[in-house]
Amino acid sequence: MDSQIAENFRRLLSEAKGRNIAVAGHMRPDGDCVSSALSMFEILQAAGANVKCLNKNEVPHLYKNLAQFEFESTETFDPKGWDILLVDCSDLSRVSPALKEKLGDVYACIDHHESGTSNAKIMCIDKSAGATAEIIALCATEVGAKISRRAANLLFMGIATDTRQFTTSSTRQESFEAARRLVRLGADPNAVAQELYQRERAQKMALLSVYLGTLKRLCQGRVCVGFLRRADFEKTGAQKEDTDGLVDFARSIDGVEIAALLEELEDGSVKGSLRGRTPEYSVNKIAEYFGGGGHLAAAGFTAKNQTFDTILPKFEELCRKSLDRDL
Ligand code: 5GP
Ligand code: MN
Repeated sequence: MDSQIAENFRRLLSEAKGRNIAVAGHMRPDGDCVSSALSMFEILQAAGANVKCLNKNEVPHLYKNLAQFEFESTETFDPKGWDILLVDCSDLSRVSPALKEKLGDVYACIDHHESGTSNAKIMCIDKSAGATAEIIALCATEVGAKISRRAANLLFMGIATDTRQFTTSSTRQESFEAARRLVRLGADPNAVAQELYQRERAQKMALLSVYLGTLKRLCQGRVCVGFLRRADFEKTGAQKEDTDGLVDFARSIDGVEIAALLEELEDGSVKGSLRGRTPEYSVNKIAEYFGGGGHLAAAGFTAKNQTFDTILPKFEELCRKSLDRDL
């Protein structure tokens, strides 16, 4: 990892004493986002800051036991007197469009996404990191910050989820090095795995079953897309957070190179979740066309005033270009 990133992290901690810092992650937080926000809460508090953790949504079910913590809502938060640290995203519009309206500058940013621009004063950005939690684990151990057993477990969880158990194309030597240091600090991989992979809600499995039933192949079968409508959530009792990970099942099918989950939202927009078999397909560029972004092999968007029918023709065209490496 670039030594400048650890230097910037050191500066973040050295300026923390007496400062009010609100740690904010992206909407619909995933494991990496929860892990990054809550571990930075502990690390900044230990460095003498007054800290809050914000999110538009709640801590998802699977991460609740490891987190033992709830977020304060971005929607009711009054930013006056608070400096913002963005984690696992580089743009306030990913945190809360309402909060973006109220805020000027962002104080600091820790992120690993390909898309997004940050104008933060202190930046710890490493686009080749497997997870934001990986950046935090490496920097915090590098500068000698104290990491509790709870934070070590959370950080391990963040790296494990974002790298799909250390198997994504973003997994690198430093991902294992960060994990090694965390286990040394008391992280328990099996205890984390029991939380992540043996506690699924039955309602989520019912939603998965609906999703699998809608799968459709495009581009000579190389693209696989499935659909979730509002009624599917009512029918199964599933919540929004239960969509997390479903698209991976579409990608897991032999012959599928790009997979998507399109979800109808109540405000008349369509949320897309995209996965590429390899980073060469740059699915972030497909997501960017619809106003989103992400990584080369995993990206997403929320397109306003759209339906599945209005999205699909352009989506198929972009997928074809992407498969031809022409995006
Ligand atoms: P997921 O499909 O799991 O929701 O997201 C996959 C990746 O794309 C994540 O890294 C996530 O941060 C990013 N992503 C998802 N939705 C959006 C979006 O609306 N805008 C941007 N910029 N990135 C997104
Ligand atoms: Mn992440």
